[in-house]
This record gives sequence, structure tokens and C-alpha cells, in this order.
Amino acid sequence: MNLILLGPPGAGKGTLAVRLAEHLSVLHLASGDILRTEIRNGSDLGLSVQKYMDSGQLVPDDIIIQVMIHRLTQPDCADGFILDGFPRTLPQAQALNDRLAEVNAPIDMVLYLDTDQDIIISRLAGRRFCPVCQASYNIDTMPPVETGKCDHDQADLQTRPDDNPQVIRTRLEKYTQLTEPLLDYYGSASRVARLDGNKDIDQVNIQAQQVLTKTFSSIDKP
Ligand code: AMP
Repeated sequence: MNLILLGPPGAGKGTLAVRLAEHLSVLHLASGDILRTEIRNGSDLGLSVQKYMDSGQLVPDDIIIQVMIHRLTQPDCADGFILDGFPRTLPQAQALNDRLAEVNAPIDMVLYLDTDQDIIISRLAGRRFCPVCQASYNIDTMPPVETGKCDHDQADLQTRPDDNPQVIRTRLEKYTQLTEPLLDYYGSASRVARLDGNKDIDQVNIQAQQVLTKTFSSIDKP
């Protein structure tokens, strides 16, 4: 099963992807996580993308396409994947399409998390992450057991540098301008299921599983 999660920053793509990846036993590939790992490792790639990420701009297509297509050629992707954060532009979607056509592994479904802007902004403001294990929290909707501490390793939680109000504005503009048109692209080529991203994660997860079970009725069978 090859899935794409589409939706604005803060729609809950990452949280849903983690749950679906576990449920479907497929790989979760988050382009933002891959890039943040490169930044943490101080690689040339990390150095070249940091300025875009910190300012809320998209990383140039040629860079991200190369990174993600390379990642998709790794053997662990052969049994399916959930793409979270990629593609984000039409050229990226076309490059992905070309690559998947080569290996005859088309996208089975695009799950679109339709989410209101006020909810997005409040979710991004409440988002925290663990700098040690990268676990994600939200102080309002998914708080850690102990305030400000990671449940897994007790590290102090942090705010992502691109979750500040000015950068959030830029990210939302880029989403509307460059990513939202992908709905038409996939609407014409593939199956797009709209989920109500305003609901809490448990409900979104249930909606997603219902859609997938209805569409691919064999996925819950052994
Ligand atoms: P995310 O973690 O998905 O919110 O991504 C964080 C940042 O990484 C984005 O604001 C972009 O700067 C960069 N990024 C992640 N995925 C892509 C992509 N597919 N295309 C361009 N930039 C990306």
C-alpha cells in the first residue's frame, strides 16, 4: 500500500502517519524529518536546506526530489510507504509519479486532511518535540505525562524553530500557493479521500482506517 498524506502544516499528517504506518505495517517517510536529520548531522545537504526551513520557504524542488526519490529506491520501501510532506509541488508530484511508474508501484490513495486555518495556527503554537528521540507532542491536545518532559527519555521538550508566528504565515502561504494545487493533480489521476482534519487525532485515525478498509477491503484480513 502506497499512500500520500496531503494537508497544510499543522493538519496532523505526522501524527496520523505514525498511527497508520503501525496499523498497515508500512514505512512512514516524512520529508521534513529526513531534512531535520541531515541538519542535526551537519551534512552538506543539511547545511544547504537549513535556511529554507528556518524561514518557512520550501526547499528547492531539485534538492528534495533527489533526496526523496533516492530514499524511495531503498529496499525497505518495497512493501509500501506513507509519504508525509512529499510531494509539496507539482514538479515533485510529477517526479514521484515518473519514479513510481518505473517500478510499477502507483500511489493507491491520497488522504487529504482538510483543516481550518485557526485550528492549524493553534496546533502549531502548541506543538513541541523531543530533541533526543524526536517524539512529537501538543501541549493542548497530546501533552506529555510530565509537563515539558518527553515521556520516553525525560528530555526537555522544545518548540520547532519554524513554529513561530511569522514563519507559520510563510509556510501557510507556500502551502496555498504550491501544495494545494496537488489536490486537483491527484483528483484527476488517483483516489483522493478527504478527512476532517479539524477533528482530534483519534477520530481522524478512525476516518482514515474506515476509508482505507472500504476502498481496499482486504487490508484488515490476514
Ligand atoms: P514539515 O516537517 O513537513 O513541516 O517540513 C518542514 C520544512 O521542511 C518545510 O517548511 C520545508 O522547508 C521543508 N520541506 C519538507 N518537505 C518538503 C518538500 N516536499 N518540498 C520542499 N520543502 C520541504
